[in-house]
Amino acid sequence: MTEKNEKKKAVPGSGLVQGLATTFKNMVTPAHTHQYPDTPPELAPRTRGVIALIEENCTSCMLCARECPDWCIYIDSHKETIPAPTPGGRERSRNVLDRFAIDFSLCMYCGICIEVCPFDALEWSPEFEYAEYDLRDLLHEKERLGEWVETIPPPVALDDAAEEPKEISLAQKAAAKKQAALDAAAQPAAPEPPAEPRGSAE
Ligand code: SF4
Ligand code: SF4
Repeated sequence: MTEKNEKKKAVPGSGLVQGLATTFKNMVTPAHTHQYPDTPPELAPRTRGVIALIEENCTSCMLCARECPDWCIYIDSHKETIPAPTPGGRERSRNVLDRFAIDFSLCMYCGICIEVCPFDALEWSPEFEYAEYDLRDLLHEKERLGEWVETIPPPVALDDAAEEPKEISLAQKAAAKKQAALDAAAQPAAPEPPAEPRGSAE
């Protein structure tokens, strides 16, 4: 037995005092625990809570379903023929989405589906309160996925030092060109010079 341990043993009740001191210290220290659900957590704006589907952007291209590592995206669609807009024109066909579902009991929130979607039809929402008693209820169909759209936070502001996105400068140029054309059309036409009388050249 070491000398230190021998000293400790010599003072009776020192362990009890030490324990009480620790208890008292913790009693007066403010807790870091958030009392959820009374106190909602402060989440980062890009928290991966749930995936929202913007249905009108989806072309049923299946890219997200093919890239999903968990195979938890289910898509059904059919083709629809759109008649030619003008006589003699060509008919067109487009995909119509019948079913779009994500099984959140399988999803691992990797975000690959959102990254690969070429039409920005999928977005993260920070909502996370959709726990269920039955796993099967974690299969969200397109109607439920669409309800999450209104909880998508606005995009994070650009860095002040960042370059302006080229889409904005292109849109500004197009708007200026259109305004110039409208201004030119609104200008009153210059009066025509009077016609020369016949035979004046002789
Ligand atoms: S977040 Fe990942 S796992 Fe979940 S649906 Fe998208 S691709 Fe699949
Ligand atoms: S969500 Fe995007 S990637 Fe998935 S099918 Fe629709 S358009 Fe294609």
